[in-house]
Amino acid sequence: MKGRKLLMIPGPIEFEPEVLQALGKATTSHVAPNFIEVFGNSLELMRKVWKSPKGQPFIVAGTGTLAMDMAAANLIEKGDSVLVISTGYFGARFKDILDRYGANTTILEAPLGEVVSLELIEKELKNKQYKALTVTHVDTSTGILVDPKPIAKLAQKYNALSILDAVCSVAGEEIKQDEWGLDVVLTGSQKAIGVPPGLALLVVSKKAMEVWENRKTSVFNYYSDWNNWLPVMRAYEERNPSYFGTPPVNLIVALETSLKIICKEGMSERVKRHQILAKAFRAGITSLKLETIAKSGKIAANTLTAAYYPKGIDGATLIKKIANNDVIIAGGLLSEIKTTYFRIGHMGSVSANDLIAVLCALEKALLELGHNILPGESLGTFQDELLKSNL
Ligand code: PMP
Repeated sequence: MKGRKLLMIPGPIEFEPEVLQALGKATTSHVAPNFIEVFGNSLELMRKVWKSPKGQPFIVAGTGTLAMDMAAANLIEKGDSVLVISTGYFGARFKDILDRYGANTTILEAPLGEVVSLELIEKELKNKQYKALTVTHVDTSTGILVDPKPIAKLAQKYNALSILDAVCSVAGEEIKQDEWGLDVVLTGSQKAIGVPPGLALLVVSKKAMEVWENRKTSVFNYYSDWNNWLPVMRAYEERNPSYFGTPPVNLIVALETSLKIICKEGMSERVKRHQILAKAFRAGITSLKLETIAKSGKIAANTLTAAYYPKGIDGATLIKKIANNDVIIAGGLLSEIKTTYFRIGHMGSVSANDLIAVLCALEKALLELGHNILPGESLGTFQDELLKSNL
């Protein structure tokens, strides 16, 4: 589309045209038979994407932060001990939310560009009985990917619930909620799920639902209380009308469309596409003599890349120049290093062509600012990497 800028920030992302068309359909009643079907279908499709046939899905108007808030408000009571495993800005946010509900939180912060070791997590779990632990699957502030599988296993071993902030990973990174034993996997709609901002999405294990049912105190937050939402989710899944708060009808119609697109591609193919594109993109970035925040490719996210500006280049000017070439990227978020790095999202509908456009705009801007690289360097590297894959 001429005049349109390519949105390559880590959410909101570029959405599939069918999803945007679905969003623009005439709004129906939230209890119209067609909409009940759409809502019910969406809940069922979420179980497929999350790989959680036994989980309880929730679709609620709000953002990813509401999904975090819901997990904390419903599962944590005043004085409960919670271990927060942090790889950046969003780990700190989870601690803030939990503290607000009176949790007794301990935060394990990874050194910048790294993950918290399993040894350290186990040592902490051995040391104290935690009710729950939280993990950020992909911290969008650093582009660090954490493997949640062994952490969920440790949580089970030490009888703690595992809560995964998967806002920047669901439908982009590998997740097998039931098989891995994750108790809550939560996200927002605007990332790899591929729907404009406005939906908080969670899938909750049977064990976590039981913990919630056996609370001693009532849930402190009225809007987040699963007592209000569970009957609504159950009713829609049984294809019955229900009401607590008016659902965002159009967003849920768009969600069903996107979940169908995701399932049609297949989760393993989709994850593979993200992995191949991310690896090739990182190779392109490195060929431009740029350093990623993630200290190794093994812990680099497949949904976004965060890299430092080269020395002597002003970040704001670089981003502006890239925008002049019709590509929108994001600046830094983690306060300690905010002005020293930038972030590029590559999730959801992302294609090799999108990333070629990003590398081209980035290279041009860097060359104009005097960075010592060869024109086409990153494009060749990206292409070489792609040719090694079967994408
Ligand atoms: N967690 C992570 C990992 C995120 O990337 C974000 C959004 N960038 C959030 C939580 C918060 O989501 P929202 O902005 O939709 O409230």
